[in-house]
Amino acid sequence: MFSGISTINSGFGVQNIVGGEGVQNNNNGSGTQQNNIRSPRAMDPPGRIRPIYRASSGDDRPSQREDFHIAIICALATEFDAVSLLFDRLWDEDGEVYGRAPGDTNTYTTGRIREHDVALALLPSMGTASAAGAAAGIRSSFPVLKLVLIVGVCGGVPDTGENEVLLGDVVISKTVQHSLGKQYPGTFALKDTVEDTLGRLNRDTRTLVTSFETEMGRRRLRTKAGEYLVALQMAAVSQGYRQSYQYPGVAEDKLFEPDYRHHHRTPQACGICKYESGKTCDQAVQASCADLQCDERHLLRRERLEAKRRMELTDMQRPEIHIGRIRSGDTVMKSGEHRDQIAREHNVIAFEMEGAGAWDEVPCIVVKGTCDYADSHKNNKWQPFAAATAASVAKAFLTRYPRTDRTIPS
Ligand SMILES: [Zn+2]
Ligand SMILES: [Zn+2]
Repeated sequence: MFSGISTINSGFGVQNIVGGEGVQNNNNGSGTQQNNIRSPRAMDPPGRIRPIYRASSGDDRPSQREDFHIAIICALATEFDAVSLLFDRLWDEDGEVYGRAPGDTNTYTTGRIREHDVALALLPSMGTASAAGAAAGIRSSFPVLKLVLIVGVCGGVPDTGENEVLLGDVVISKTVQHSLGKQYPGTFALKDTVEDTLGRLNRDTRTLVTSFETEMGRRRLRTKAGEYLVALQMAAVSQGYRQSYQYPGVAEDKLFEPDYRHHHRTPQACGICKYESGKTCDQAVQASCADLQCDERHLLRRERLEAKRRMELTDMQRPEIHIGRIRSGDTVMKSGEHRDQIAREHNVIAFEMEGAGAWDEVPCIVVKGTCDYADSHKNNKWQPFAAATAASVAKAFLTRYPRTDRTIPS
């Protein structure tokens, strides 16, 4: 007889954090019975860190860190908050529960998203080095992870050749390309080939990412993400978050011509910006397009944006999902022309900062909302909404991710 056996009813009495009318928030549907068998303590290998929390009958929390198979990494507080709003239950509401391995300096929140117990980590800062350190820590504290998602915001490539990418759209990495790979004269050697990159993920994850490239897979993912996005926005309001995760509006989605620069203009032009040398002073980089009077006659017309103007808000804000190669590293795009050149050369659909660093430590999927067009005109206005769409797609992703049964001791 096992001391750790508990029978749970996941669909009953679930603390519903998200709220949201018409949104399905709990795990297995009401009334679904599930046997949940844990390894008895005697099975623990020598040296294993004993759990602080012990599951008791009727409580289906994981009993130890080894029961967590999924981690989510965020680089910004806004991203972290967005993801935490989509947890169906939180395990550490009343205090820290699971501890961490020696040497791991990450801070975690833990809980359940759909059927999965998830550890959510916030990085101390943005960038690949920080992500690498955090991922190493996660791996030591949660040694049985099967999937790591990096969820947050990125800069999008507005026209990938196949379709338009709008602000708030979400990109999922089929591959992550390290921008710090070897540079040869006139060319660039990828750190990982396409096959190598996907090959490092387990088969469940590979199959799942591939399935989202089908029309049906993407439609399902998008539909669920739209529901979760509404739930997240309502939860932020009902829980009194200061951050609004609302859609900023079609009129705020501005894409300038790639060669139209964001810089001081006459008569206030400074010595650096005045000459058409392509340089922009630091002060201008920090200034808004309104401050610099960037001329909206240089905005590009977007077909999808025009279509959105005729939609209801729910349809308007539902993110499109793009799957492809994401370029990751600490490089900041200088201009629209620079962005388009790099995107063309390396066939990438987005730029972000953390994926490659984490990837070096643990195979991961990058799920990021487009908050700007990776050019000089970018600002932070779209960050919260893009973080929310990414979190919503991440949860929709987990909805389709197969739960692995816990081992039944023999
Ligand atoms: Zn200037
Ligand atoms: Zn501008």
